[in-house]
Amino acid sequence: MTTRKPYKVVVKKLGKDEQGYKLHGLAIYRHGRKPARIEIDETVVGQDKLETLIHETVHLEAPYLEEEAVTDIGEAVAVQLWAHGYRLTEVK
Ligand SMILES: [Zn+2]
Repeated sequence: MTTRKPYKVVVKKLGKDEQGYKLHGLAIYRHGRKPARIEIDETVVGQDKLETLIHETVHLEAPYLEEEAVTDIGEAVAVQLWAHGYRLTEVK
């Protein structure tokens, strides 16, 4: 079992990037004493949200990886987890 703590995730309206593509998520790296965090667009749900969460987590954990590798990992892990029934459940 890991003792690792999860990154904080903020769900908000993200809009578009500089090229005009809809942003699904952002990895915000640690800056001084401000811890790293992930932002996910509020319209991204279901398997896309799972994939975005994995994608941005991989960016934070392995900043040396190229975008293509991060995208491949995000898609593969999300498809695998989704196929095995992993879903978001609201915890109260
Ligand atoms: Zn990326």
